[in-house]
Amino acid sequence: MIIVMSRDVTEEQIGVVVKKLQDAGLDANISRGVERTVIGAIGDERKLTEEMFTPLPGVESAMHIVKQYKIVSRESHPQNTVIDISGIPLGGNQIQIIAGPCSVETQQQMDLSAQYVSEAGCRLMRGGAFKPRTSPYTFQGKGVEGLDMFRQAAKKFKLPIVTELMDVRMLDTFLENDVDVIQIGTRNMQNFDLLKEVGRINKPVILKRGMSATISEWLMAAEYIAAGGNHNIIFCERGIRTFETYYRNVLDVTAIPVMKKETHLPVIVDPSHAGGKAWMVAALSQAAIAAGADGLLVEMHPNPSEAWCDADQALTPQELKKLMGVLTGIAAAIGRTL
Ligand code: PEP
Ligand code: MN
Repeated sequence: MIIVMSRDVTEEQIGVVVKKLQDAGLDANISRGVERTVIGAIGDERKLTEEMFTPLPGVESAMHIVKQYKIVSRESHPQNTVIDISGIPLGGNQIQIIAGPCSVETQQQMDLSAQYVSEAGCRLMRGGAFKPRTSPYTFQGKGVEGLDMFRQAAKKFKLPIVTELMDVRMLDTFLENDVDVIQIGTRNMQNFDLLKEVGRINKPVILKRGMSATISEWLMAAEYIAAGGNHNIIFCERGIRTFETYYRNVLDVTAIPVMKKETHLPVIVDPSHAGGKAWMVAALSQAAIAAGADGLLVEMHPNPSEAWCDADQALTPQELKKLMGVLTGIAAAIGRTL
């Protein structure tokens, strides 16, 4: 942190700031410029807040200069982290496509979905049993029964499962049902109590970007999980809110290289919730892989027009298969495999 003192600062006021830093276990570097005196904090400045200094007499401003996130930062761990999802690696050279319906509906729909996901060549499956719906009057998910249907269907094809956790009281049920990856949705990205709880367990977590979250807020949210001891975190860019209304969200492709620079953890993309229309999914998926995403989270339904949730954006099984072919080519062009 650097603390910029006002023009007419006194030696006594400088002394108060230095003492405050020393009391917090840090050292101070006093730089007396022609115009201004600037005090630099030396040591672990994560303990400091700007508000500790800004009210003091003689202080003009205080600002952090090191990043607040630590465990998730690439600075702390330069190599890419590869997360082992029940035997499937995510974050390495091989790109993983996680596909499946928005919601678990029936056993038959899940059995068919698992078959199509596997036939398309995907190694992981998605499906929501607890759905965060905008309206309380729409389908809210099959709940615990849905987790069981999902588990049964995926087991036949040895597909690890990804499903969203909204309520911390359901965490034990998720573990009992052997959920392989816990998804934290866009609406819960800053539900800090939920993040702390998934930080206590040793399961991979997909942390979706809040629809209006900055990159640094997203990284800090992951730091909550990591601080508890769970470092198996996968970031998922799923589109952000902007002024544009043509599509559901704006896929922030720029976030992909930025996140790869800032963190050693895998970064995946959800092209389905970004575009909100099935016809956009292929183009957005191609862009995401070309930009360096480690995987995708894609919605596919055996019969999209019959889907109970997000029918407009679900790929057909044939479209998923075709997309996998195209992505294989893009992966090869950038020296990766699918
Ligand atoms: C989902 O993946 O089913 C979902 C609800 O996504 P998001 O949290 O990104 O809206
Ligand atoms: Mn959905």
